[in-house]
Amino acid sequence: MSTGFAEKCRKVVCIGRNYVDHILELNNARPTAPFFFLKPPSSILLPGQGPILAPKGVKCHYEVELALVISKTLKDFDCKGKSPKEALQEIVDSIDGYAVAIDMTGRNVQDEIKKKGLPWTTAKGFDTFLPLSTFIPKSAVPDPSDVTLYLSVNGEKHQHDSTNLMMWKIPELISAISSVMTLYPGDIVLTGTPKGVGSVVPGDHIDAGLEVDGKQVTESVISVDVAEKGGIYSFGA
Ligand code: MG
Repeated sequence: MSTGFAEKCRKVVCIGRNYVDHILELNNARPTAPFFFLKPPSSILLPGQGPILAPKGVKCHYEVELALVISKTLKDFDCKGKSPKEALQEIVDSIDGYAVAIDMTGRNVQDEIKKKGLPWTTAKGFDTFLPLSTFIPKSAVPDPSDVTLYLSVNGEKHQHDSTNLMMWKIPELISAISSVMTLYPGDIVLTGTPKGVGSVVPGDHIDAGLEVDGKQVTESVISVDVAEKGGIYSFGA
């Protein structure tokens, strides 16, 4: 099991609202350009490290996403003058590989901080709020712009869509991010979630992964329980 990639991660950059049907299901405004936020590397939960911990009073939503593991320093990546295929090839040449990620989100926490105009950090940053699969080599993903992400809760499939539904494609995402902050080897980029997000509670079980041509990619499998988090945090208390 290859999980060493996560130790080299200095930041996790996450794209928000990149699939139309997901924007609609949450009644969010459609952005006019890609936008992103950060999750702390301390939120990473690798296979075998235990359950997702649901903090008290927090409505925990799952969001399955394709993650890119960066291998080259990327600064001001520009798509101009490149065909979509050339731009994508340049990005593929600048990554080590992929992972499947679940961008766990405290939805009621996020709703409240959105209303107040505060940063999303708490809603996105709890420990264990970033389950990752093992490392997926590039050879297992012939075209990252057309692979299928899936997520089931207690055996029932809730998310199952192709990355070809992204509003902004991978090179455009990298361009937007790297125009603001340099991406370094080891950094992880989450590319947004398709429709079907929803809540989990302690006792639930999540399975997620990636399919290429209808076949599950072995390295991509996430199988993780949800349990109650101890500690002093309690939302609304
Ligand atoms: Mg997300």
